[in-house]
Order: sequence, then structure tokens, then C-alpha cells
Amino acid sequence: MISDNTINKKSVTDIDVKGKKVLLRCDFNVPLDKATHTITDEGRITASLPTINYLLNEGACVIACSHLGRPKGERKPELSLAPVAVRLSALLGKPVKMARDVIGDDATKLANELRPGEIILLENLRYHKEEEQNDPAFAKSLANMADIFVSDAFGTVHRAHGSTEGLSHYLPAVAGLLLQKELLHLGGAISNPARPLVAILGGSKVSDKLAVIENLLEKADTLLIGGGMAYTFIKAQGGKIGNSLCEDDKLEYANKMLDIAKSRGVSLLLPPDTIAAAEFSNDAEPVTVDSYDIPDGYMGLDIGPQSAALYAEAIANAGTVIWNGPMGVFEFAKFAEGTKALAEAIADSDAVSVIGGGDSAAAVRVFGLDDKITHISTGGGASLEFLEGKTLPGIACLLDA
Ligand code: AMP
Repeated sequence: MISDNTINKKSVTDIDVKGKKVLLRCDFNVPLDKATHTITDEGRITASLPTINYLLNEGACVIACSHLGRPKGERKPELSLAPVAVRLSALLGKPVKMARDVIGDDATKLANELRPGEIILLENLRYHKEEEQNDPAFAKSLANMADIFVSDAFGTVHRAHGSTEGLSHYLPAVAGLLLQKELLHLGGAISNPARPLVAILGGSKVSDKLAVIENLLEKADTLLIGGGMAYTFIKAQGGKIGNSLCEDDKLEYANKMLDIAKSRGVSLLLPPDTIAAAEFSNDAEPVTVDSYDIPDGYMGLDIGPQSAALYAEAIANAGTVIWNGPMGVFEFAKFAEGTKALAEAIADSDAVSVIGGGDSAAAVRVFGLDDKITHISTGGGASLEFLEGKTLPGIACLLDA
């Protein structure tokens, strides 16, 4: 049911924004230093600049909004968006006035005073519990300040909140340039990929990825499985996995997926060798073992070199690669080699490469390979739900192209 998430949604470039008040939902949920509350990574702010600059250059009046952290309906000063307004202003080279609240007199006054080419920022949307409740009155108050709703926060489109879905009931709703890019790359990789489509799934748990595995078995030509979730599959196939991660209640499911793959002609690969250790620690001594015969007391913490070579070969022949989840405990340098080998294989290949947000995106950045990837998604949970083929409320609500 990917149809509701397709790339066929109107975007800012399809409508006239000149002189219009545009409510722009950004993802300014930046990481903050715990002690000083200063921004530690402004990547999300810079990612929003193309849409903001486009709107300002086209003569729109921009009312930007976002959530930050989890204030849970309370006005928590440490989660104010004020530091974002300061950074945004510096990056844009123009003033960004900060409203004292999300809705109400001050926000409305600032919105009314906006001239074409100017921008204001509203306070943290989640200071109001009505935002996450998708309360119609709250969405309507927000909508009253504007003529158009532009959605550019891909990281929250899997949630039906006031600022992600509610607004679309009161304003014409279109995608910003960042969201449009996500739809183009994630949507294109899933619904119209250059073949063969090689999907790589890793991470800790099978249970987090049930729907993704099922959907990818319908779309992909090859499915490479690694990370902790591989051992549930290996045990289901009669392998001896020692103390490796395993979800015993998913053994039957794993075998069912292997059967489906076989009946559909999808090549589902599991890692033949494993880097194991006696304890979950970066100080543990790594040993390379057969994934189907892991010694008692040992746990698999990374795919082995033979697996990495096998997977790299599949990647080298791919037309499109989609990757979600690391191949091992890449946070420990000794167990990062498998994940690194795959990131390098993807970077070296000519395939269209799309990386879901979260850990695999972080891994690619740590290895310095991010500029060799076609698209790294800005949304972890949202990209996973997209790959599950779910209808995402913040995308489905946008006007069709
Ligand atoms: P997820 O959030 O499910 O995508 O999983 C990401 C986490 O899985 C990372 O923090 C990895 O350290 C962890 N992980 C990957 N492979 C393994 C493994 N073999 N054993 C334990 N944890 C793993």
C-alpha cells in the first residue's frame, strides 16, 4: 500500500507562494548538550535551508515551526527553540524573530507583521499536549496564521500530529524540498528500483523489522540479513548460536520468511561466518567462527570476512541498494568491520543507494562515506515505516500532484 506514500505529491515548487503566509513544519529536533543546552549538531537546521531559502526568495512570509525533545505538553525552558532561531538566523544571514509561544497573541502578531522574504520561528510545538493529540482546535489555531502548509519534517511524517497532519484539514498542504527528496529516493527505490534491488537489513531485533522483511520480500531481488537479528534465522535453520541474540518466539516466523523467499525466487542470504566474543564488550577478544556452530558461551557480535565478501559481491552487482540496520555492534571498533565493509561496498558500487536513518546513517557518517551515498534518509522511524509499505499520515494528507 505504498501508493499513498508515492512521490506524486505536490511540492512547494508546484504552487504560487509569493506574498503568501506559509506555515513550514521543519525538523529542528536537534541534539542539545545536556549541561549547557547548546546545539551539538546543527545538521537538521542546515537540511531545512533549501526549502526556507526557496520560500524566502520566492517572496513568501515564512512561519517556521518544529518540536524539540519531549516536553510532554509542558513549557520546559531547556527545550525552547530559541537557540535554533539564533543559529538559523546566522545561517540565513537574516533576522529570525522568535515567538513567545506556538499559538496565541504574540505568535499571531508576529505572523501578521511578516513581510515577503521574512521569517519567524514559533516556540516548541510540543509545549502544547494538543500537538501530539492532533487536536483539531489546536491545528486550526495554527492554520489561522497562514495560507499554506508546507511539510518538510520527514522524521515526523509517520505521526499524525497537529503540525504534521492536522493542518492539512484547514490549509492546502504540500511537501517541502527535503520531504520531496525523501519521497523521490525512498519511494523510487521501493516502487521503481533499478534492478537488481538488494535490500540489507541488520540491527538487533527481528521483532522490530517484521513488516519490513515481509514488504521487502515482495519488492527485492536479494535480501541480505546481518546484525543480531541474523541469529534468530540461523537458529531456526538448526544452527548452534551460543549466547547470540535470539528471539525464540520468532523462530517459526523466520522459517516462514525463508520459505516465502524461496517460493518467490528472492535470494535471502544469512552470514556464513561470525565474529564472536565471550562477552559484550569492546575489550573482548574477537574470534571468527562458523555462524551455524558458535561455541557455548560465545555471542555473535559482527558478520565475518567471508560474509562481508559475499554481501559485497551482491552489492557490486546491484542496481539499487536499500540499507537499514548495522551488521554488528559497530559502536565497538573491534566489531565494526562487517558494517564498515558493507558501507564501503555500497560507496564503491554504481548502484543507487538509499540508507534508512538511524544507526546505519550514523555508521556511514562515522566511516566518512556519506558523500558517496545517493540518499541518506533524515528519518529513522519514518524511513522504517516507509520501507514497511505503511501509509504515513503526514504524507498521505498532502495534495496529490
Ligand atoms: P536497531 O536499533 O534494531 O537497528 O539495532 C541497532 C543496534 O543493534 C546497534 O546498537 C548495534 O550495536 C546492535 N547490534 C547489531 N548487531 C548486534 C549483535 N550481533 N548483537 C548485539 N547487538 C547488535
